[in-house]
Amino acid sequence: MASERKRIAIVGAGPIGLEAALYAVQAGYDAQVYERGTVAANVSRWGHVKLFSPFGMNASSWGREALTTGPDACALPTDDALLSGRQFARQYLRPLSELPALAGRIHEQVRVDSLGRSHHWKGDLIGDAARGDDPFRLLLSGDYGERTRLADVVLDCSGTFGNHNWVGAGGMPCVGERQALLATDYLLPDVAGADRERFIGKTTLVVGSGYSAATAVVALAELAEADPATRVIWGTRSNRTPPITSIEGDSLVERARLCDAANQLAMAEAGPVEWLPGRLVRRIQREAREPDARQTVCLELHDRQENATVEEELTVDRIIANVGYRPDRRLYEELQVHECYASSAPMKLAAALLGDTSADCTVQSSHGPQALQNPEPGLFILGAKSYGRDSRFLIQIGLQQITDAFTLIGP
Ligand SMILES: Cc1cc2nc3c(=O)[nH]c(=O)nc-3n(C[C@H](O)[C@H](O)[C@H](O)COP(=O)(O)OP(=O)(O)OC[C@H]3O[C@@H](n4cnc5c(N)ncnc54)[C@H](O)[C@@H]3O)c2cc1C
Repeated sequence: MASERKRIAIVGAGPIGLEAALYAVQAGYDAQVYERGTVAANVSRWGHVKLFSPFGMNASSWGREALTTGPDACALPTDDALLSGRQFARQYLRPLSELPALAGRIHEQVRVDSLGRSHHWKGDLIGDAARGDDPFRLLLSGDYGERTRLADVVLDCSGTFGNHNWVGAGGMPCVGERQALLATDYLLPDVAGADRERFIGKTTLVVGSGYSAATAVVALAELAEADPATRVIWGTRSNRTPPITSIEGDSLVERARLCDAANQLAMAEAGPVEWLPGRLVRRIQREAREPDARQTVCLELHDRQENATVEEELTVDRIIANVGYRPDRRLYEELQVHECYASSAPMKLAAALLGDTSADCTVQSSHGPQALQNPEPGLFILGAKSYGRDSRFLIQIGLQQITDAFTLIGP
């Protein structure tokens, strides 16, 4: 048990924030979790998607022990179970948040708007450990209005999901993008379920070449079996063939299956999917103000043989922009955080990740406690946000980060 109850403020009740809270409370700290939505809000937003990693990789030893011992013990999924986001939230994360140890410590519908020090500005005591003697001040907002809270340590576990990148060339918004696309266009629609009617019989442009784009393409192609009028145009920036990089001997069976299915659809000579490699998005124009209005998209292709840039125009019913997510850095902009200029991840971890070139995130480890340190004493960026724009984060790495961080937090 920590001899003095250090106050630990945790931003976000996703998998990593919840696990960190339980770990902290079990170690004797005074942990408070602030969640802008409800427990596992982001996981629930992609609740229809199946996790690639089996349950055994996604739950901590301390979380499982707490849930399976004592008078209120509950049964957990088996280690090899492949759960959807919704099942993971319902069968593990929600029960975790309801453990007696966390009673009164998880504050839902409370957003952390800003983090600072109580008496020191960003430019004071530069890189000086003495900043750690001044408590953090958190600006919180909710139905009640605004209030502040103090903490000795802050764990920023606020994730990246929903804080999207842009579709346009160069990673900027293309002309018209900010007017034409809605925040929901950058998420993962439930094409086979709740959002089916929006996509069946329609032409959808999917932009992106990651697993989310692959998921959308495969789901839309399945919809085309029910209604052959359903068409998919899949635009990727890269010319890489096939579009999704498969991992040789992939230990995550569901991920391997998804890559194969998406690549086969892209390479097929006939079928519902038309793959357009090497395309940059120049302009998007919505034909009317309604959310489901048709959109005209201007793509740019560099013709190598002619050494010329060619423009082509498409008209589509829907756009799914799966171009990745980025951390919200406004949260800690008044603190001294050293960030990587390429990934916006905390610098030490970003530098360590640069050496990890494998596309297979299962072979990564946490990179140890030192990689989590940055100039601001007592601030730790954990979970998906710790990877910045790098999408290779896995929950099992976040669980290691928690134990690593607590070796530095001290009593
Ligand atoms: C579709 C998809 C599938 C994935 N599949 C896997 C997989 O199979 N295996 C795997 O290991 N990983 C997977 N990941 C990657 C990653 O592990 C998950 O995104 C995971 O949810 C990250 O956990 P987290 O706790 O860091 O962040 P999140 O789950 O994103 O949680 C962050 C929480 O913080 C809250 N929040 C944000 N800002 C604030 C604020 N200012 N104030 C208060 N609260 C705030 C959010 O509402 C959210 O509840 C997947 C990701 C996606 C998008």
